[in-house]
Amino acid sequence: MEMKQLVDLLNRYAYEYYVLDAPTVSDGEYDKLYDQLKELEEKTGTVLPNSPTRRVGGEPIAAFEQVRHRRRLYSLDKAQSFAELEAWEQRARKITEDLRYHVEYKFDGLTIVLTYRNGRFEQAATRGNGTVGEDVTEQVLTIKTFPLEIAYRGELEVQGEAIMRLSVLERYNKTAAEPLKNARNAAAGAVRNLDPKVTASRNLDIIFYAVNYIEDESLIRSQSESIRFLKEHRFKTSPYDCLCDSLQEVEEEIRRIEVRRNKLDFLIDGAVVKVDDYAAREKLGYTEKFPRFAVAYKFEAEEVTTLLNEVIWQVGRTGKLTPLGLLEPVELAGATVRRATLNNYGDLLRKKIEIPSRVLVRRSNDVIPEILGVSERFEHSRPVPKPERCPECGSPLVEVGAHLFCPNAGDCPPQIVGRLAHFAGRDAMDIEGFSEKTALLLYRELGVKEAWQLYGLTKKDLMKLDGVQEKKAENLLTSLERSKHCRAEDFVFALGIPNVGKKTARDLIRHFGSLEALRSADEKTLTAIDEVGEVIAQSVCRYFADPRAAENLDKLLACGMVFEEAAAPRQGAFAGEKVVLTGALSSMTRGKAAERIEAEGGEVQSSVTKATTLVVFGEEAGSKLDKARKLGIPLADEAEFLRRLGL
Ligand code: NAD
Repeated sequence: MEMKQLVDLLNRYAYEYYVLDAPTVSDGEYDKLYDQLKELEEKTGTVLPNSPTRRVGGEPIAAFEQVRHRRRLYSLDKAQSFAELEAWEQRARKITEDLRYHVEYKFDGLTIVLTYRNGRFEQAATRGNGTVGEDVTEQVLTIKTFPLEIAYRGELEVQGEAIMRLSVLERYNKTAAEPLKNARNAAAGAVRNLDPKVTASRNLDIIFYAVNYIEDESLIRSQSESIRFLKEHRFKTSPYDCLCDSLQEVEEEIRRIEVRRNKLDFLIDGAVVKVDDYAAREKLGYTEKFPRFAVAYKFEAEEVTTLLNEVIWQVGRTGKLTPLGLLEPVELAGATVRRATLNNYGDLLRKKIEIPSRVLVRRSNDVIPEILGVSERFEHSRPVPKPERCPECGSPLVEVGAHLFCPNAGDCPPQIVGRLAHFAGRDAMDIEGFSEKTALLLYRELGVKEAWQLYGLTKKDLMKLDGVQEKKAENLLTSLERSKHCRAEDFVFALGIPNVGKKTARDLIRHFGSLEALRSADEKTLTAIDEVGEVIAQSVCRYFADPRAAENLDKLLACGMVFEEAAAPRQGAFAGEKVVLTGALSSMTRGKAAERIEAEGGEVQSSVTKATTLVVFGEEAGSKLDKARKLGIPLADEAEFLRRLGL
């Protein structure tokens, strides 16, 4: 692309991103074009007057009052590899040797600058173009997590990032008319909205990371001191920061952050490395756009835009239809992505998915890529037609809430195969050597449809299957026989009752003691159990009341199932431990952490006693941690806790 074209395109993208808070391309794609332009400018020595490389951020929207910042706000230079980081350090070393680094998360949100005078909050502003920002005081006042009054009386300007936590975004999206695609734009769009009610509805948070201006400059002489000052004045700061003496330590920290990244409840797009000491910072100074004393190490992008060409429908074992987007193949976080899920029919409608269109796709480590929303429509884009019939068996579909279902449970092939594979799965009956492929072959070639039929199979039957020799057939029969001795909770899970996962199956059996008791429970008795809500209760009752399911269940029991006494797990990373959780963990809720500990054989206690064997502490842990220290009880911080869980 020639220079003018690049500049025009980047300016369009920057307008969509900074002004509209609705980017049509991902940050990674923008950054790539930006780097191309920079290279071209360096090579030719020409910089067009409207080049984005000359400016910070976007112009403030006229609808807001404008605020002139007391100190100019800069953007951050970026490094995308350790080599680039090392080059940045080399440049800095030429100016000063005195380099100690403060490593922080690079929050992906919207910069907010707050002004205080006489100990009172006065004004909130966006960064805007760095010199002039927008007055968003009314909007920011709806955010509950920053102090309106502080002990310091002089003039003060502090900077932080307005973010929307991922759990908050998820909750918001569950009921939103149109889901928000991404937490960064959700936060930016909420603050830069003329109606403060919109800001309030999004439950934002501000995490503070800098004191930009303080009247008594001698009070703060380093980044670590500024964080301490912020903490002392009750500003919420990052749950993480680290002082490093060498770039090698910085790199180790960055590696650790990258591993942790997906477990955080907020978006980070990198780590910021800042020279800690202000005297060294002064020597280093600024370029036109960046401070020389800080650099953003950017992580590999997890979001990208690509073309959505088609939507197909997959039928699961419960008959639920899941829309799957077929994409123009695209590289994302080291893998080629060709398909991405749209969760359910309601999701597709709320996201206003059209084909073809340009969509934003997100990939995180352990889940299938998801289409977050449409970033660009074309003239010939059309809504995805609603399927009327099951793509697998042709039955008319049924709509329940956000989902489309194929009601033909007894004869729809993927439902049959899915149920058989689920029944045999490791978390269920754990039938060794039985795979999804086995289920498919059994159905196709021997007409097996229900789990009880598995127990009537003979060696001769099995040897008819493609690729199954005598040995394999014998092994499978042995595994099947062995599986008859199982825990009732595993058996209940294996039945594949909609909405009954592993944990619910366990809760149900623990409560009722036996399958028979569970089978005759009514909805009221079920909802009385702590962890069981209406949806699960209805699902369970409906399942046991269904004559077809009941008949199959009886036949299955008649095969000679023997249920073991359910014993609490005694194995695992926390076997035999009595654990107390205190403070906030950034990677999971306390409830989740407790579940994990129990699943690993530990017992979770609510208070620290002499019998406590371990205290896991997170941010802002208080008296329980003190008590544990006094009693000399072993402690584990979040990193250690995750390590013991093998995460
Ligand atoms: P930046 O990436 O240059 O980083 C500077 C910003 O980082 C600060 O203003 C601050 O808000 C934030 N930050 C987060 N944590 C911080 C911490 N601990 N310490 C200091 N600052 C911290 O941001 P920028 O200049 O606003 O934007 C440039 C980036 O914006 C581009 O690299 C691109 O990814 C994105 N962008 C995307 C599009 C698009 O269309 N997708 C368009 C324009 C820009």
